[in-house]
Amino acid sequence: MKSNAKAVVIGGGVVGCSVLYHLAKAGWTDIMLIERSELTSGSSWHAAGGFHTLNGDPNVAKLQAYTVQLYREIEELSGQSCSLHLTGGVMMADTPERMDFLRLAHAKGRYLGMDTELITPSEAKAMFPLMDETNFVGAMWDPVEGHLDPSGTTHAYAKAARKLGAEIVLRNRVVELTQEVDGTWNVVTEQGTVKAEHVVNCGGLWAREIGRMVGVELPLLAMEHMYLLTEPMPEVEEFNKSTGREMIGVMDFKGEIYTRQERNGILLGTYEKACKPWSPVNTPWDFGHELLQPDIDRIAPSLEIGFKHFPGIEKAGIKQIINGPFTFALDGNPLVGPVQGLTNFWCACAVMAGFSQGGGVGLALSNWMVNGDPGFDVWGMDVARFGEWATLRYTNAKVRENYSRRFSIRFPNEELPAARPAQTTPLYDTMLAKNAVMGDSWGLETPLWFAPKGTEDIVSFHRSNDFGPIGEEVRATREKVGVTEIANFAKYEVSGPAAEDFLNRLMTNRMPKTGRIVLTPMLNEFGRLIGDFTIAKADEERFMIWSSSAAQKYHMRWFEKHLPKDDSVRIHRFDQTLVGLSIAGPKSRDLLQKLVDVDISTKAFRFMDFREMAVGGAPCMVNRITYTGDLGYEIWMAPAYQRLVYKAINDAGEEFGLVDFGMRALLSMRLEKNFPTWFRELRPIYGPFEGTMDRFVKLEKNDFIGREAAAREQAEGPKLRRVSFIVDAADADVMGDEPIWAKVGGKDYGTVEKPHGYGAPRFDTAGKEVRGSRAAEGASAVRGIVDGDWRVVGWVTSGGYAHYIRKSMAQGYVPAALAGDESAGLFEIEILGSRRPARINVEPPFDPSGEKMRT
Ligand SMILES: Cc1cc2nc3c(=O)[nH]c(=O)nc-3n(C[C@H](O)[C@H](O)[C@H](O)COP(=O)(O)OP(=O)(O)OC[C@H]3O[C@@H](n4cnc5c(N)ncnc54)[C@H](O)[C@@H]3O)c2cc1C
Repeated sequence: MKSNAKAVVIGGGVVGCSVLYHLAKAGWTDIMLIERSELTSGSSWHAAGGFHTLNGDPNVAKLQAYTVQLYREIEELSGQSCSLHLTGGVMMADTPERMDFLRLAHAKGRYLGMDTELITPSEAKAMFPLMDETNFVGAMWDPVEGHLDPSGTTHAYAKAARKLGAEIVLRNRVVELTQEVDGTWNVVTEQGTVKAEHVVNCGGLWAREIGRMVGVELPLLAMEHMYLLTEPMPEVEEFNKSTGREMIGVMDFKGEIYTRQERNGILLGTYEKACKPWSPVNTPWDFGHELLQPDIDRIAPSLEIGFKHFPGIEKAGIKQIINGPFTFALDGNPLVGPVQGLTNFWCACAVMAGFSQGGGVGLALSNWMVNGDPGFDVWGMDVARFGEWATLRYTNAKVRENYSRRFSIRFPNEELPAARPAQTTPLYDTMLAKNAVMGDSWGLETPLWFAPKGTEDIVSFHRSNDFGPIGEEVRATREKVGVTEIANFAKYEVSGPAAEDFLNRLMTNRMPKTGRIVLTPMLNEFGRLIGDFTIAKADEERFMIWSSSAAQKYHMRWFEKHLPKDDSVRIHRFDQTLVGLSIAGPKSRDLLQKLVDVDISTKAFRFMDFREMAVGGAPCMVNRITYTGDLGYEIWMAPAYQRLVYKAINDAGEEFGLVDFGMRALLSMRLEKNFPTWFRELRPIYGPFEGTMDRFVKLEKNDFIGREAAAREQAEGPKLRRVSFIVDAADADVMGDEPIWAKVGGKDYGTVEKPHGYGAPRFDTAGKEVRGSRAAEGASAVRGIVDGDWRVVGWVTSGGYAHYIRKSMAQGYVPAALAGDESAGLFEIEILGSRRPARINVEPPFDPSGEKMRT
């Protein structure tokens, strides 16, 4: 074993081997993988080996597609077969709601380059005759599904990596990790110490233990998982013989079941409701190639539905039940990337579908390590997406919830209950007493809307019971004044003699004068959007910053990376040690004036001003801005004062007709102003000019990160533009990710594929490229991106009902040449399978001149 390496990958499961292969392929050959036992000694060896491309997050779907197409490459390079079976598969819907869900998934596929098709239950049965199709209302076919040999695949990655120069050390446990002052890692193993520049945690079942070696509690948990294998079945053999094909994979939402052909029989696995964590606190180091005791009672309810839906399987004898553990993060997606607060410590763990995702995870991580950027929009699996609130017990509750809902539909207005409430503000009980329906905002309870007594959210893809009350909240705010909690924003203080220079280097806009506020995007070196901030200059060496709460660790990681080493800049993240209230509406100034002892008239306290002042007797910071687009204020205070300020606002607000409004009303009001949101409209796949952030990018001010790339984007002209639409919707509004159609005739406006869209080629088992092939005949599918003169030209990022103007609205990206065209009849947006007329609205429909906020 060598004693120095550029990078050490800990763990020889499918993920570690993929990371090693991708690093070697990217040119880092001075690398090694250290494995405690033999390769595949964690969860990889007993996996069911299924793979598919569908994922709720289109960005993760892209990386899954990459994984599938990679198998040919590693087979060729390594000479090791992965035993690929590209059978295709179906998702079965048993209710109209589940069919809506499939319609949505299918619609998303239009601009992602996916070849899914909506088909009938009978068409699905033709490909999997063991089902009773009368249990279902419809299905979605995906040709890029199948199964492989987990052990062969892991070894194929490993052999390919070795061929490219990487070293693999087996039967050698990493026991300790320490770091020198110069950043070098000491990887202490049973066979000696390796000095490494980078360490990658691919510890799978032991990833938590490896995290603890560096003082990090990673939010993941192993769950027991069972699948059964049947004896050979004559029906399977008969199908293979008569069609010359293998049976396809089937996912049954209702039964929480996946099933497919395995040799001459059937494999059937289930995500049971009565799920069970494995080793919830510590993973034993002596666990190896052993299986857990099957517990048929636990999966009996799922099997009962399964046998009803697939009566052909019930008759078969069960040959074996496999029960093995594998890890999940809170939301079921991997934890990938550099860990905030550490240098050169990387994660690729909690990969619950190693054979669908392992290749994509390896590619993204190696890009990140070698080039400084993952090369894709990997927010959905970034290790920075969870905060300190994701403790061991919180993780345990959320992972169990996620596992037991793996095949359940998540409605767009659905809030999941496990591990809540976690964080609350001092106003929590007051809000509940006012019948606020609360939602989880990065671990914090946040009022969503105020319901009539005894009412809760009715979850739906369509407009629901919050529609009326939110409309009232919006109208009362726009016409009089409303108050809402904004504790769920991210808040930072940047201070020190070099604070301004530091922010000028990171941000695209000029920093404000003392007492003023600016809005500014932040770019990476490639000129892509990685942040959107409100910045106030409190005094010469102190800036207050606000942004999206979910991006706190993501942004801190970036700030820390660029912080001068000489202590000339300090950053403080407040989290919930600073909370806030926003008041908005034409009467908000009259209200605030009653609570303060300074002049806040239009001239004395202008739009985009910042002041520290006492509000209702409490020391506060006040911004003269709101996200509603009205005259309004954001008021920030220590939590100890929040109740005092809220009471003062309520007492003084009575005469002005004050109402409480929640996050949903706030998001509705920002739609009417064409304001974007971070993570929906603004993401690292877009440039600032594509995102129509033009006026916040000052290319001439000084050299900032991403300036050169931004200048190029401006000179060449952005390919896409963010636009707002008014949609002629029926009883459902857009949710995000819907395709945008345009009547463009034969004109070509460039690619319709999303920048992160997955256009990876797909191959059949003979290595031939596949486009839209399907085993069944006579598909009744609605698919494709061209329909006569109409063409899919873009995608929706978010939207909903704009209650003040009483219209449905959407934001999204379209080719730049179309972005200014407000003609009627040019666009349609596909909502739940139905194409609705839509029209671009260049100017915001509410207060287009911005006069109301400036008054
Ligand atoms: C029953 C079952 C069915 C499944 N079915 C599927 C499926 O159909 N499709 C699919 O995609 N996925 C499936 N999975 C999940 C899949 O197995 C995992 O996604 C995958 O194995 C994760 O791989 P990994 O490399 O992250 O972790 P692991 O396989 O757990 O590998 C981690 C490795 O790290 C090593 N290690 C840990 N600590 C140290 C240390 N300190 N020093 C040195 N080495 C260390 C371990 O020995 C181990 O070899 C299934 C899992 C189970 C249990």
